[in-house]
Amino acid sequence: MGPELEAFEREFADFLGAAHCVGVASGTDALALCLRAAGVGSGDEVIIPANTFIASAMAVSQVGATPRMVDIDDHYLIDTSVIEAAITPRTKAIMPVHLYGQAADLGPLMALAERHKLHVIEDACQAHGARYDGRRVGTFGTAAAFSFYPGKNLGAYGDGGAVVTADPEIAERVRLLRDFGQRKKYEHVIIGGNSRLDSMQAAILRVKLRYLDRWNACRRGAARTYDELLDCPGITRPLCRDLDGHVYHLYVVRVARRNAALQTLAQSGIQAGIHYPVPVHLQPAYAHLGLRRGAYPRTEAAAGEIISLPMFPEITNSQIERVAATLRQHVGGAQEARS
Ligand SMILES: *Cc1c(COP(=O)(O)O)cnc(C)c1O
Repeated sequence: MGPELEAFEREFADFLGAAHCVGVASGTDALALCLRAAGVGSGDEVIIPANTFIASAMAVSQVGATPRMVDIDDHYLIDTSVIEAAITPRTKAIMPVHLYGQAADLGPLMALAERHKLHVIEDACQAHGARYDGRRVGTFGTAAAFSFYPGKNLGAYGDGGAVVTADPEIAERVRLLRDFGQRKKYEHVIIGGNSRLDSMQAAILRVKLRYLDRWNACRRGAARTYDELLDCPGITRPLCRDLDGHVYHLYVVRVARRNAALQTLAQSGIQAGIHYPVPVHLQPAYAHLGLRRGAYPRTEAAAGEIISLPMFPEITNSQIERVAATLRQHVGGAQEARS
């Protein structure tokens, strides 16, 4: 809570074009603090996409509210055309997740939220620097959450997160909530907890922030190279709504016989991932919601076929070529086996 933190908060807010930034201990805490500060709590519902990291749902649960899922669009992002049907009298907020580094379709989403007087809490934990209509994500909703987990586009050397908002009252409430509701030393005005961002992490983040735009541009370049090299039958490349707005936290393709593809890649020493193999509604932790397989068919179909290929700013063309060749070999072999 020293000068390094204050400086980072100012610099990250300026980078985004936001009025306020409050450093906290993680992205999950940032989401929960956004919700609490916006008055979301027990008995309320928050609409989230079914395809997301579990933290989006668990932050909602942590504040006593219920996550209400909706299916995804062709970009693996919240399908704005089905949100309205999920709104109930208990709905308090919509949480778009800018998954894989791409902005959710915020135009229709913000209009819908306004019409129904709902808060929008952006989960921007994978989208530092991403843009929608030229504007950085994290500046559209009531508040937004960022994560600085080491693997994110802007990562600390340990856990960290931030709440970003245009609303000075929300910012003030988050400042209190992250530090035992303390306004002055030993004056506790509300019940809060401990969710501080260390000065050491803030100092590291201040240096790395200067490189973020450059690193994101490298990721975009790598994505364009993958796009070219993976233009072949059997591989579905990711759709991109805005070539300059996407920050490619992940580059996610779809193939048949996904697990065999992962094995082929692993045999060539290529580590790939699945984000995410089991959708939120099919996790044991959310069994009490009573949602079965078939509830969100697009999310479920994606979960069985997606692969996140190696993606980081320093990836070289020859590395990308090797990954692409290995994947093409897999789908080529699969098609020969069929014919
Ligand atoms: C990483 C992540 C979070 C949680 O951030 P932590 O810092 O790990 O708590 C939340 N939502 C999404 C989409 C994420 O990728």
